[in-house]
Amino acid sequence: MAKTPSALGPATLIVVTKNHPAELVAELIDLGCLNVGENRDQEASAKYLATEELRPNNALNWHFIGQLQTNKVKSVLRYASAIHSIDRPSLVQELAKQLPKLERSIEGFIELNLTGDPGRGGVLPENLEMLTEQVLGVPEIQLQGLMAVAGLGENPRSEFERVLELQQTLLRIAPEARYLSMGMSEDYQVALDLGATHIRVGSKITGPRAY
Ligand SMILES: *Cc1c(COP(=O)(O)O)cnc(C)c1O
Repeated sequence: MAKTPSALGPATLIVVTKNHPAELVAELIDLGCLNVGENRDQEASAKYLATEELRPNNALNWHFIGQLQTNKVKSVLRYASAIHSIDRPSLVQELAKQLPKLERSIEGFIELNLTGDPGRGGVLPENLEMLTEQVLGVPEIQLQGLMAVAGLGENPRSEFERVLELQQTLLRIAPEARYLSMGMSEDYQVALDLGATHIRVGSKITGPRAY
């Protein structure tokens, strides 16, 4: 089975640090970690500031990977270099409003909802094309590709194969957006086999989270 296509280089490891303190992020920086992922703004923004104090001028990239409420967008844009959870028109509209004010751009992934339950995060497959068109209309969002979480109790391989199918829809209208953010502690090897370019691994690296 082919690994990540070599043209895209090795996959980017995003260490998910949610529910761990800034001290752990500082240790990761010392170990050469370049990318961390967080899923809640309140926790992430405090941790970002604390990390800046612990390790000034670090080169860490902060990836926002959780459901993002529109009223948190402004805050998230203070520290995030990428958002993996673009999933609905109102969020794209808010990004389109805030990014020009900050005179900045951001890397964006469209999150897929593979569950069929509209109440979950991510865009339903039938709305993917429409949302992609909308994102492409915002020059400050550098569309990277798709993000997905394999459903609990589902076979990760079939879940990620579904992502590859839906990627074809995306690439028809956004041929540059060829990155795939998929794979977590339990399924990152399968994800890499299927061409993941960004894996989001938490507990396997950091140990269990204290809730
Ligand atoms: C928590 C989380 C992860 C990491 O999960 P682990 O099982 O600890 O590797 C990855 N992606 C998202 C979206 C998450 O919320």
